[in-house]
Amino acid sequence: MKTIGLIGGMSWESSVEYYRVINQDMKARLGGHRNARSVLVTVSFEEIKALQHEERWDELGERMAEAAQQVEAAGADFVLLCTNTMHRVAPVLEAALKIPLLHIVDPTAQALRNAGVRRVGLLGTAFTMEQAFYRGRMEERHGIEVIVPGAEDRALVHRIIYDELCHGTLRDASRDEYRRVIEGMQAQGVGGVILGCTEIAMLIAQHDVALPVFDTTALHAQAAVDWALT
Ligand code: GLU
Repeated sequence: MKTIGLIGGMSWESSVEYYRVINQDMKARLGGHRNARSVLVTVSFEEIKALQHEERWDELGERMAEAAQQVEAAGADFVLLCTNTMHRVAPVLEAALKIPLLHIVDPTAQALRNAGVRRVGLLGTAFTMEQAFYRGRMEERHGIEVIVPGAEDRALVHRIIYDELCHGTLRDASRDEYRRVIEGMQAQGVGGVILGCTEIAMLIAQHDVALPVFDTTALHAQAAVDWALT
C-alpha cells in the first residue's frame, strides 16, 4: 500500500472529512482494521485566507510548495491538496515535488463523465468559480462545460464558505440559499452540480436537491485510496 500525503487545514473541518472518507473507504475495500497509510501537514488557514483575499498567489504557491515538500519528506508517495481553491497554485507545487499531485479536478471530472454529465454547475469560493484554473482544466482537459451562478449568488456562496462552513457552522437558512442557487443552475440545463469547495458537503447532501451532486471531498479522497492500492 502506498502512503497518502495530505495538505490540510483549509479548513481543518474538511480535512477531518478527508481522513474519515479515506479510512472508511480503505476499510470497506480491505476489511478488518486496515487503515490507509497517510501523513498530514496542516497549515494555518488564517494566514492562507488573508493571502488569498490579497491575491498574493506567488506567496501562496511558496507556502503550498513548502507544505508539499514536508509531506514528501515524511514519506508520502503522492500528495493531495485538500482544498479546491488552492489548486490555483498546483503547477508550483508539482514543480517542487518529485512525487505526483492528485489533482482534485481529475477524479471529479471522471465521476461526471461516468455519469454522462457534460454540462455542470459549479459552487465554490469566488476564486474557484471565477478564475480560469479550475473550469479551464475541466473544460480543456476533460471536455466538460462549467456554468457558475450570477455575481450576487457567487458572493453569497463565497461568504457562507468563509464565514460559516470553514468555522464548522451549519445554518438552515444557508442551506436554503444554496438550494435556491443550485435550482437556478438546474433551470439552465446542467446535468449536475460540483460541490467545488471541500466544506460544502457538510451543508448540502444529495437528498437536499434533485440535481445529482458531485462532492469533491469524497471523490478526491476515494481517488486517493485507488492510487494507494495501485
Ligand atoms: N476548502 C475550500 C475549497 O475547497 C475553501 C477554503 C480555501 O480557500 O482553501 O476551496
